Amino acid sequence: MAHAAHAHSPRAHWEPGSDALRDAARDALSEQDVQWTELRAGVFDALAQDGRPVSAYDVAERVSTATGRRIAANSVYRILDLFVAHNLAKRIESRNAYVVNVHPACAHDCIFLVCEKCGSIDHLDDDSLADRMRDRAESTGFQPHRPVLELIGLCPTCHG
Ligand SMILES: [Zn+2]
Ligand SMILES: [Zn+2]
Repeated sequence: MAHAAHAHSPRAHWEPGSDALRDAARDALSEQDVQWTELRAGVFDALAQDGRPVSAYDVAERVSTATGRRIAANSVYRILDLFVAHNLAKRIESRNAYVVNVHPACAHDCIFLVCEKCGSIDHLDDDSLADRMRDRAESTGFQPHRPVLELIGLCPTCHG
C-alpha cells in the first residue's frame, strides 16, 4: 500500500534497516566511485534504522551510542550531504531532517507525505508530476536543481 504509486518495480526498493538496503546503498555508492568507509557505514546504519526522518544531531547521537565514540556533528552533516548528493538519503525540508532513501539504485524526485501528528513519513514517486514542475520552471528561464515535494497532513493511523 505504502508504495502503490511507485512507477518502478518493487524490486528497486528495500526495507529501512535491512541488510538488503544497506547492500544496495553501498553498491550505489561504489558505482559512483565513492568509498563506503567505516564512518559512512555507521552514519548510514544510524540514519536507516527505522526509516523515520532524523536530524543530523540525532544521527550523531546514535553513532556515538553505537560506537562508544563521540562523532562531531560537522562530520555527520558532511556525510549526510554526501548521501543526499549520491541518492542514499533525502532531505525532509519541512522537518530539517534526513531520511534514508529506500531506492538508492534509482533516482526520483520523491514526494514525501509528512504526518504532522506522529511525525512519520511515507513517500510516493510520480515522475510525471515532478518533471512537469521542472519543465514549467525551465520555461521561465529558471534552472531547477531539485524540487521540494512535501505534503503535510495526517497518516492513515492518525486520521483513523
Ligand atoms: Zn522515491
Ligand atoms: Zn501519523
